[in-house]
Amino acid sequence: MSHTAFIGIGNMGGPMARNLARSGKTVKVFDLSPTAMQVAVDGGAIPSQSAGQATQGAATVITMLPEGKHVKAAYMEDGGIFDHAEPGTLFVDCSTIDVATAREVAAAAKARGFRMIDAPVSGGTVGADAATLTFMVGGDAADLDEARPQLEKMGKLIVHCGGNGNGEAVKICNNMIGGIAMIAVSEAFSLGQRLGVSVEDMQRVIASSSGSCVAVTDYLPLAGPTPKSPANFGYRPGFMTKLMLKDMRLSQLAAVETGQPSPLGAQAAMLYAMAEQEGLGELDFSSIIKLFNKGIA
Ligand code: NAD
Repeated sequence: MSHTAFIGIGNMGGPMARNLARSGKTVKVFDLSPTAMQVAVDGGAIPSQSAGQATQGAATVITMLPEGKHVKAAYMEDGGIFDHAEPGTLFVDCSTIDVATAREVAAAAKARGFRMIDAPVSGGTVGADAATLTFMVGGDAADLDEARPQLEKMGKLIVHCGGNGNGEAVKICNNMIGGIAMIAVSEAFSLGQRLGVSVEDMQRVIASSSGSCVAVTDYLPLAGPTPKSPANFGYRPGFMTKLMLKDMRLSQLAAVETGQPSPLGAQAAMLYAMAEQEGLGELDFSSIIKLFNKGIA
């Protein structure tokens, strides 16, 4: 049975590769970070010296890399994935990247006789760990059908959204909402505290009211009521502020390209940029509340 290569095994790719390996699949991994490699190997994956070496003989190559430039380089640079893959290999890029790069790399793959889908995810590190991710997929339906058994080992909802790049389109729209909502919750909870209300009382009411959203029910930017949220662990990510900033910029780029007015998205991108400048870039994005709750105990 041919193996699956998994390139990029950080906060998300690490647990995803582990779940795939646990399902009985042979998974060969590569990451630039030795720590990430060790964690994946401890989880049952086989280490490789390079992306190319992991790719040799693979039927499927899955990538989970930070940005479009990393994805493009991993597939297209000399000695990269394209140069080592067998004809017909199925590439599954799960990274969150810009739509244009996703379409460019998929077209280049097809021109070289490969197949490619974009399959970005939502559900965060908790979903990656529990194999409950949502995959939003762009590409040919037949290619998704081939990838589906493996995606099912890492997630629970898989939605085909159309042609190449459409998975990324849905992903950046979703994160635009999630990023804006976290700021709204941060502002509102800071205001409530200044008015003398406890975080617990506010969370209890708002979680069942019209202000409810994931940032209130499961991912509160304050410690206490939602025990799994990063606020309980010193804002250890989770999903880093710098990655949320990247995604907000991706949606703003797409808004400019399509002429779509996006005033709240633009404002949110600005606020995440400010958060990064305040030194919150490597913390979870929910730490953006620190811009609003200065002086509140
Ligand atoms: P991460 O930084 O933890 O992991 C990325 C990994 O890629 C790192 O370990 C890095 O060493 C590795 N890498 C970079 N370039 C490489 C290369 N050329 N070859 C091999 N490895 C390379 O980031 P993450 O949180 O796992 O996010 C990965 C992607 O998933 C991003 O696009 C992010 O936006 C998206 N995402 C993250 C979350 C989340 O909650 N963390 C949720 C949904 C989507």
